[in-house]
Amino acid sequence: MTAEADKSKQAVTVKCASCNGPMSSPAFCDHCRNLYPADGLSHFELLGFEPSYDIDNQALRQKYLQVSRGVHPDHHGESGSSLSLRLSAQLNEANRILSDPVLRAEYLLELLGGPSAAQDRSVPPEVLSTTLMLREEIQEAGVTGDNAVLNDCRTRVRECLAVLLATISDLAVQLPGDDDLRSELRTALNSVKYYQRLFDVL
Ligand SMILES: [Zn+2]
Repeated sequence: MTAEADKSKQAVTVKCASCNGPMSSPAFCDHCRNLYPADGLSHFELLGFEPSYDIDNQALRQKYLQVSRGVHPDHHGESGSSLSLRLSAQLNEANRILSDPVLRAEYLLELLGGPSAAQDRSVPPEVLSTTLMLREEIQEAGVTGDNAVLNDCRTRVRECLAVLLATISDLAVQLPGDDDLRSELRTALNSVKYYQRLFDVL
């Protein structure tokens, strides 16, 4: 990608309709402190990021805190309180999704037109058999109170999750990609859930 194209892709700053100042989020003007409804905006847009997997976690955190403070009901009196509450809830949800690498990949995949978890539930057979085996092992160790086995299972689950997360990250940075890539990413995201559910019994 050329520097020019990259620059235009990152041009997510909007101008305030009231004071014409640059806004770091379309929901709140830092200059005149006006609030704007953010209905229909993506989580990325709301926090002023381009839709990309590769986001700086610290920048995300800072932006979330900055905009959250700006829209906080305490600063907007009674007239602005319902919009302010709505925006706060939207910001919390955006931060929850974007700060989690798995949820972020899933959200981005669906945003870019990839299959949702409801549309494609495929999971590789080896993930099914491994997680089933682990579940049985965990349950048995739970009954006998064998903490060494439980710790070992915990370690194995964490290791499998780390491998899957690396795969997800590799694929998600290439989004939108082609159908194969999106379907491979969907499968990895589905697989993560199988491993994550094991923590319910661990
Ligand atoms: Zn303004």
